[in-house]
Amino acid sequence: MSELPPCPKCQSVYTYEDGALLICPECGHEWTPGTEENGEPEFKDANGNLLADGDTVTVIKDLKLKGSSQVLKVGTKVKNIRLVEGDHNIDCKIDGFGAMKLKSEFVKKI
Ligand SMILES: [Zn+2]
Repeated sequence: MSELPPCPKCQSVYTYEDGALLICPECGHEWTPGTEENGEPEFKDANGNLLADGDTVTVIKDLKLKGSSQVLKVGTKVKNIRLVEGDHNIDCKIDGFGAMKLKSEFVKKI
């Protein structure tokens, strides 16, 4: 028995195969195995929760800002994040700081 991947949408483990498709009985999502890994990258916060565009997160550690003496303090709330590919995978605007990029591993979803 080969193990089927969990549903990429709801993480259900009760997925089953139907020809070339995988189907999730819980949310009805259908997909072709293999395409998910090459498609949208996953963005996870410090706790492993998936992040999405528009989420609000807080910073979990003091972050020094490159090219300035400012420090983004732990607990800073960041609203309406935008996920981008790359090392710093969160595009956001923070009051008092302006537009910047953060790493998803240094934030947590609230
Ligand atoms: Zn599902």
